[in-house]
Amino acid sequence: MKVFVDEECSLHRPPYEILSGKIVAYHETPDRLLQIRLALEGDGVFQIEDADRSIDVQRHALQVHSVDYIEYLESAFGLWVEEGGDPEGSLFPETFPNAKITQRFATANLAPRSLAGKTGYYCFDLSCPITADTYTSVLASARVSLSAARELSRSGESAFALSRPPGHHAGTSVAGGYCFFNNVAIAAKYLQQESECSTCCGIAILDIDYHHGNGTQEIFYSDSSVTYVSLHAELDYPYFTGSREERGDGPGEGFNHNFPLPFGTEDGAYCGELRKGVKVIKEFDPAYLIVSLGVDTFESDPIGAFKLTTACYAEIGCIIRGLSKPTLFVLEGGYDLDTIGKNVRTLLEGFITGAV
Ligand SMILES: [Zn+2]
Repeated sequence: MKVFVDEECSLHRPPYEILSGKIVAYHETPDRLLQIRLALEGDGVFQIEDADRSIDVQRHALQVHSVDYIEYLESAFGLWVEEGGDPEGSLFPETFPNAKITQRFATANLAPRSLAGKTGYYCFDLSCPITADTYTSVLASARVSLSAARELSRSGESAFALSRPPGHHAGTSVAGGYCFFNNVAIAAKYLQQESECSTCCGIAILDIDYHHGNGTQEIFYSDSSVTYVSLHAELDYPYFTGSREERGDGPGEGFNHNFPLPFGTEDGAYCGELRKGVKVIKEFDPAYLIVSLGVDTFESDPIGAFKLTTACYAEIGCIIRGLSKPTLFVLEGGYDLDTIGKNVRTLLEGFITGAV
């Protein structure tokens, strides 16, 4: 299996985040990519390939994200420094346009003058500080998923986008949960455009990250050409999305499927629900499958509360293989650096070989 990478994915390095009321080291680090790469290379099962730098990432990102959001991400740090921000520092939001205080601006097209204000408009939490190199990494991460998607459309061969920042929390015009561009959504739009029948090219997105992919859900909520299936922790981050009742809207009604699971979910229960999700995808019969691959479902993950073991990842890979679809795996979460490489490899090998 080809694995696509880009060294610019590692430039984004915010020093800290605020979690459970504490200032802690940023969990979403470049070391995640390094550990996975070390686990994948060396024995010929996986072929590491550089992403294509000639891909016009912004053009493809515009199929998913709004122009003003992309312009904001591109320019925010520079403008903030011009306003007096620390060139070595990180841009954080200072306020959020909570609906309870924004009636005044509802029709006035909220446009805060300062970047600290604008930042709160374009993100929904504190986990997406913007540093001098953030946008370069955001582009690189999407470039990796586009390069892997291109491999899929040209050869029909499944591929893995080994990239960060992750993407499934990023919506049309909002960052959050370490995510800026929604890499799987950008890849899905690309695959549809490249398809001979773009209007009938169905895509299924299977999100097996521990957290609900609120951004992916939002982007395709009214779209019947993309079915979204997510297994995630109920009542955990991002808290306000991911219920079974969220089933899509308008023409997209019935194409959004959430499988919330309780804290402490173990291998057997997880795979049982996964088989239900896979059944939904089988009935949809997509041209391509995209997997939002998070391993923060692991028992020792520092920010997850499921109890999956490494053996379970082989079974997950095997269950996904059963769909027999050209499959694009895109990295999302997973924060236990000691096991992230082994768990990702185990899942991909389960997919390749069908052995548990
Ligand atoms: Zn996650």
